[in-house]
Amino acid sequence: MGSRVIIDLHTHSSVSDGTDRPAELVAKAAREGLDVLALTDHDTFDGLDEAAAAASTCGVELLRGIEMSTQRKGHSVHLLGYGAREDDPALLAELARIRAGRTDRVSPVLARLAELGLPLSAEDVRRQAGDSPSVGRPHVADAMVAAGYVADRTEAFDRYLSDDGPAHVPRYATGLVEAVGLIRAAGGVAVVAHPWGRGKEWLLPETLWPELVAAGLDGIEVDHFDHDPGQRERLRSLAGRNGLLATGSSDHHGLGKVDHELGRDTTTPEVYAEIVSRIASRV
Ligand code: AMP
Ligand code: FE
Ligand code: FE
Ligand code: ZN
Repeated sequence: MGSRVIIDLHTHSSVSDGTDRPAELVAKAAREGLDVLALTDHDTFDGLDEAAAAASTCGVELLRGIEMSTQRKGHSVHLLGYGAREDDPALLAELARIRAGRTDRVSPVLARLAELGLPLSAEDVRRQAGDSPSVGRPHVADAMVAAGYVADRTEAFDRYLSDDGPAHVPRYATGLVEAVGLIRAAGGVAVVAHPWGRGKEWLLPETLWPELVAAGLDGIEVDHFDHDPGQRERLRSLAGRNGLLATGSSDHHGLGKVDHELGRDTTTPEVYAEIVSRIASRV
């Protein structure tokens, strides 16, 4: 362990839309000097056992997590859950419902793309998704890159797939308040991911947070690439006023997202210790 403790609480593996196997991600974290890594794949716990096995051999502490696809007023909000019971029936049922909604909308998205002159088959997307149980827009973006339609995922989202793009199709997601309740009922710690990223500040205004706190919310991901310095400062004081923990993380997706290198943003040891202690107290 170096003098600075590096704690990164939000990363993705190829089990969702990252590009590294869970074991590769953990090995990379060890090589890059991280002390604690949370694996938080979208809407699935499937990568955690492989990550835990790797962590036990390479000196990285793994925090078991998930990033749930939720919504408020029909707009996407991501919710991180740490240490939730992975056999909780209500949580598992809801995750299955989210994944089904995510996968089912791939076909209408492909229909839109075909109308736009960018035909792709379901198999093209399936190939990009590998064995991921959570097939979504990032895999469609990868198929668009493979077909030579766009240069990278960012261009695919910016021109076609983003929430206001011409190939966007809405899908099922759990209500944010309900999702906080599900994580808490499963004994987990709930943290809203990158709340003000990608122009979403209007969707999660300051006045909303007391309601989320009442639902059991634990924290806000403050230090994230999608937040500028001014937003971070305001979110940090907002967290303080609402008694919420302020976390930080890379949201690493392997090669799937630029500017999200492991350990780029981090969580303090004090906040991490509090998360661990809350998880232990909720068993
Ligand atoms: P989906 O869950 O299928 O709706 O896809 C959402 C995922 O796509 C997010 O978790 C991000 O990883 C990725 N994503 C969303 N918007 C963008 C964007 N503008 N650029 C790159 N990736 C994005
Ligand atoms: Fe993602
Ligand atoms: Fe996210
Ligand atoms: Zn993420």
